[in-house]
Amino acid sequence: MRQSKLFTKTSKESPSDEVSRNAQLLIRAGYIHKEMAGVYSLLPLGIMVLNNIKRVINEEMISVGSLEIIMSSLQKKENWELTDRWSDKNVDVWFKSKLKNDTEIGFGWSHEEPITLMMKNHINSYRDLPVYVHQFQNKFRNETRAKSGIMRCREFIMKDMYSYTIDEDAHMKFYNETIDAYMRVYQRLGLGDITYVTSASGGVFTDKFSHEFQTICEAGEDNIYIHKYKKGKDKLAINEEVYNAETLAKLGAVESDFEMVRAAEVGNIFTFGNDKCEQLGLYYTEADGSKRPVYLGSYGIGVTRLIGTLVEALSDDKGIVWPQSVAPYQVHIVTLGKSVNEESYKLSEYLYIALNKAGVDVLWDDREGIMTGEKFADADLLGMPMRVTVSAKSIEAGGVELKSRADGHMEIVKVEQFLKSYTEECR
Ligand code: ATP
Ligand code: MG
Repeated sequence: MRQSKLFTKTSKESPSDEVSRNAQLLIRAGYIHKEMAGVYSLLPLGIMVLNNIKRVINEEMISVGSLEIIMSSLQKKENWELTDRWSDKNVDVWFKSKLKNDTEIGFGWSHEEPITLMMKNHINSYRDLPVYVHQFQNKFRNETRAKSGIMRCREFIMKDMYSYTIDEDAHMKFYNETIDAYMRVYQRLGLGDITYVTSASGGVFTDKFSHEFQTICEAGEDNIYIHKYKKGKDKLAINEEVYNAETLAKLGAVESDFEMVRAAEVGNIFTFGNDKCEQLGLYYTEADGSKRPVYLGSYGIGVTRLIGTLVEALSDDKGIVWPQSVAPYQVHIVTLGKSVNEESYKLSEYLYIALNKAGVDVLWDDREGIMTGEKFADADLLGMPMRVTVSAKSIEAGGVELKSRADGHMEIVKVEQFLKSYTEECR
């Protein structure tokens, strides 16, 4: 991508109506556009970030055996009345509207009901189970507060997955595999070390524990207690909502080992049990001919919130710092010089073509007439992992100047050496 062809403009000023750092940076860098409080559109660079995150999540959901679907956003009132989740008293985030003939409809804030009802067409016998499905979908929630930028939206993208199994044992096996798959997702997105599987209340879903995936981050809205000494795979955390003597006893832990931190809930998984399938009439026939309700689990990842969390957790005072797995482009070539006729432009074009051929995603700042300082400031703001400066000076010094966005490490390397390292790394 040639930056001269990118229609989105960066801006030095933070939008005055935006208080959250994640949205400020993403708007300034041209990743997103704010439509209204809690509602954002994604621009070209934002779509690339989204697609990279989706790819990682999709691969991990497929790895536990799930198949992708997309359910509709428009929801039928009757489907949600079956479980008493249509009323605004029980679910206070519904956006509702009416058809021209006055039929009430809702905008999907979650999808257990429609998916479970749909599964009645596909699940009849124990032989049809298990079934795992997931989707990436826009959810609508009439949130009271929307001050956390893209971390709390009224319209946002969620990955939700649903498991249909014969009983609790089969469910728990999948549930635990999903915990591992979720942690692989956060690890691959560069948040593994600061993300905790956290015991939490069931929210609107159940009154037992659910498990949240909480990423330590000042901009988060939750307080969690993390175990100070258990690290790595043994990490342990408890949401403050359920942090009490009873929970500590259940988890075999003692209070003095915990400290409170601020965190963002980037995922949440629930055991529903049999109730919902019973209410919705999803039964299967056992080998002996008896009928039993299917066992349901539900698994969410806040994709939009993850984008915000990545920005909050990894950015610095100069701008965004994307991990490699998420960055729209791996390499940001920044050409210094006054005109495209100069040697630095010609060398840059050569690199740009060679890297593209090798399948490396490259953004090339080929803009003429922009001051060096401004080009560098933009590169820092946009946050690609590797800046490659090509200038008369770098050529004189023997090649191109590399600068790692994450740690600021700089070095001059020979052109061929640079190309070789990138083209081999990507093979
Ligand atoms: P919260 O407690 O933050 O309101 P929730 O528990 O209601 O979230 P779930 O129904 O568990 O959310 O949804 C699954 C995931 O979707 C959450 O873990 C979170 O990452 C994300 N999410 C939920 N609400 C929002 C929102 N308003 N904006 C962006 N992401 C959200
Ligand atoms: Mg939740």
